Amino acid sequence: NLTQRLAKVVKTMRGEARLTETNTAEMLREVRLALLEADVALPAVREFIAKVKEKAVGEEVIGSLTPGQALVGVVQRELASLMGADLGPEASQLNFATQPPAIILMAGLQGAGKTTTVGKLAKYLRENTKKKVLTVSADVYRPAAIGQLETVTAQAGADFFPTKTTDKPVDIALAALDYAKRHFHDVLIIDTAGRLGIDEAMMQEISAVHAAVKPIETLFVVDAMLGQDAINTAKAFSDALPLTGIVLTKLDGDSRGGAALSVRHITGKPIKFAGVAEKLDGLEAFDPSRMANRILGMGDILALVEEARKGVDVAAAQDLAQKIKSGGKFDLNDFKAQLGQMKKMGGMAGLLDKLPAQMQQAAGNANMDQAEKQVRRMEGMINSMTLQERAKPELIKATRKRRIAAGAGVQVQEVNRMLAQFEQMQTMMKKLKGGGMMKMMRSMKG
Ligand code: GDP
Ligand code: MG
Repeated sequence: NLTQRLAKVVKTMRGEARLTETNTAEMLREVRLALLEADVALPAVREFIAKVKEKAVGEEVIGSLTPGQALVGVVQRELASLMGADLGPEASQLNFATQPPAIILMAGLQGAGKTTTVGKLAKYLRENTKKKVLTVSADVYRPAAIGQLETVTAQAGADFFPTKTTDKPVDIALAALDYAKRHFHDVLIIDTAGRLGIDEAMMQEISAVHAAVKPIETLFVVDAMLGQDAINTAKAFSDALPLTGIVLTKLDGDSRGGAALSVRHITGKPIKFAGVAEKLDGLEAFDPSRMANRILGMGDILALVEEARKGVDVAAAQDLAQKIKSGGKFDLNDFKAQLGQMKKMGGMAGLLDKLPAQMQQAAGNANMDQAEKQVRRMEGMINSMTLQERAKPELIKATRKRRIAAGAGVQVQEVNRMLAQFEQMQTMMKKLKGGGMMKMMRSMKG
């Protein structure tokens, strides 16, 4: 599972300031494996990994996040983009910019969910756009399929054009179009026959229907449960017909969603709708970001990134950076300010709350609690110091240490440990010349 895989790498990448070729490689390998596990077809996986790599290398780490988490952010954004997030919300809408009736042609293998989707669309259009819808079946091979369309059309409250099975599919479609024009239908949905596998005769038949009626929408209906096999079907239909959109059905039966990625990769066409139940109201406008999250199986990573960005007091961090740069000394007051920043970010436990459950487990709640307690104790110790001591930590010798320990309710060793940690950081600050504020804060969290 991708969540677990990412959590593992996020952990190992802690403490590095930038995403590099090296530290990205391991994580990308995990992403790749997880996508294959989600049953995404290999060519789609390859393209995706290449894109993420290009975007990730060199990207600055935001706020207190580790490079691992930043990479998760890149993965999520790219996944959403591949799902069609960049196409805008109109992409999932049907195009009606034509002389009525607007014709919608349904294409896809048998069992993909075409007939069911016709019913769902008819209901959706009637309820949401008050359009007058006519449906027709160009399936002359299976009378039962025609009956099924008649039933769902009635359930949707739309009109049904009966099929003469002795006619050719093209003639049936043209007759329905003529009827729709004369009865002022806004939309004509043409259901078609499908084979269990792709074959030339079926492709020719649907191409002929397409050429005869010139639909404004040609929707490729595909079963999400096909997983990576969806790529072959998508390729065949995409080559044979100028598709305008995709309907991904039976998403309720496949939690992995790998087919979505493969189909997008091959066709480049927007996924307009998702089928999420057998019932006629089981149709949703496709949401690329939600689908990306589903494939990732992650909690709200973006919310986490935002949180960290908000929490960091950028001005204060820049002040400190300026002070160090101009030769100023990093003292215990600065140290305390940094601890305060960490608390402002909601603390480690607060940030952790936003991660998915499995990831929280992987990160180890116990450790986080401990780290937070430690930060509070450090603050307590600094509070027990005089202002002079905070500005000149070198003044703090044995007697003062005992006083501070007593005041903060800790052992003298702990004061020593805190001062050692502070000195370490002071050295690092000198080296970084203020450029690595975030790095320092991360090292404080351990
Ligand atoms: P067609 O051969 O492409 O017309 O496919 P059908 O519309 O007859 O659907 C095949 C089967 O899939 C039927 O049993 C439908 O009830 C079922 N089905 C279609 N869409 C969905 C969906 O989104 N979710 C679920 N669970 N079942 C669906
Ligand atoms: Mg059918």
